[in-house]
Amino acid sequence: MKHALPAEPVPIRSRRSGVFMETLPPPPAPLPRFEVGIPPPDLSAWREGNCGIPGVMHFESRRVGPHVVVVCLIHGNEYTGAIVMDELLRARLRPGAGRLSFIFANMEALAQFDHERPVASRFIDEDMNRVWSEDTLRGTRSSHELDRARQILPVIQTADILVDLHSMLWPGRPLVLSGRAPRGMTLARQIGATPLIVADDGHADGTRLIDFARFSSPRTQARACLVEAGQHWQAQTLHTARRAVRAVLRPSCLVKTETGGRNVRETAQCMMVTDLVRAHSSRFAFVAPFRGGDIIARRGTLLARDGDDEIRTPYDDCMLVMPNLRPGRGQTALRLARRAPHVTDGSSSHPAP
Ligand SMILES: [Zn+2]
Repeated sequence: MKHALPAEPVPIRSRRSGVFMETLPPPPAPLPRFEVGIPPPDLSAWREGNCGIPGVMHFESRRVGPHVVVVCLIHGNEYTGAIVMDELLRARLRPGAGRLSFIFANMEALAQFDHERPVASRFIDEDMNRVWSEDTLRGTRSSHELDRARQILPVIQTADILVDLHSMLWPGRPLVLSGRAPRGMTLARQIGATPLIVADDGHADGTRLIDFARFSSPRTQARACLVEAGQHWQAQTLHTARRAVRAVLRPSCLVKTETGGRNVRETAQCMMVTDLVRAHSSRFAFVAPFRGGDIIARRGTLLARDGDDEIRTPYDDCMLVMPNLRPGRGQTALRLARRAPHVTDGSSSHPAP
C-alpha cells in the first residue's frame, strides 16, 4: 500500500521575482484609535501589600497545599486581570489549603495610563516580560521593571503554580501560552478558560516570566501559563480573565467556576509554534487584516510583504498567532503554529525527553 509523501514545506520568506508594476507597500500607518471599554481599576487598597513587598497580597492556610501565584500588570496597560484580582481580594478570598499570592506587578506603569494614549503605559523603562533570565536578574543593570522583578522574586521563586494575566492589542482569539514544558500544557488544559492553547519558545529578545527557570527547567515541577484573555480593555476579556483565575484557584480556594469550563478543557485546540517572523524592514505589511487564531488552509499562501520579500505559509492548516499589524523594524510580526502532537505531563512518571 502506497502512502502519500508529506508535501515539501514552502520557504516562509522569499525574494519577490518577476516584474512588478506595483510599488512597495507604503510605510505603516500610525496605530488606529483603540476603544477603552473598561476604565482602569483603583488598586490603592493593595499598594502597600500585606507581606513586606509592595503590591503583593499573600495568604496562608493551615492545611498543606501548593503555593498558587496569580500575576497581573506585567504590562501596565493590560489591567483586566488586575480588576479580577481586586474583585477577589474585596470578596476576602482565602486559600482553603496551601498558600496564595496576588502580585500587582507594575502599578507605577498603570498609574501612567492615559485614555488618549492607552498603548503608552505598557511599561516605564523596559518590557517586564523579557527580564526573567537568571543572568539578567543577577546582573548589575537597573531599570524600573528589572528592579521590580527582583523585588517580587522571592514570591516567584516559591510558586508551585503561576498564572500570568495579559491581554492583546490586536483582535484575535483568546489563548493560553504554555511555554515549551509539557507541564505548562497540562496547567493550560486545567485552566480551560480558552479553547486555544499555544506552546511556544518565547522571544529571542528576553525571557518571559513563564519561561523563568523555575517553570521551564526539567529539574523542577513548578508550572506556569500566560493567559492572553482577549483584546485590551474589553468586557469579554474581563469575563475570560475571571474564568481563568477562578479555574486556577478552584482546587485550593474553593471558588465556584462558571459552567462550560469542562467542555473547553476536553475540546481545547493545542498548537505548537514552529516559526517566528520578524519584520526586516520598516515596510512590513500584511496583505489582509488577519486576526490571531486564523488558520490558513493552503501552504504557500501569501501573508505579507516585507520590503522586497514575500512571507508565505510554510505548510497547510497554518495558524497565525497574534499577528502584529504594525510591526516596527526588527519586531516580531507574527508567529506560525501547527497542531501539537499529544504531550505528556513532565511531572508524570514518564517525563517527556
Ligand atoms: Zn502582555
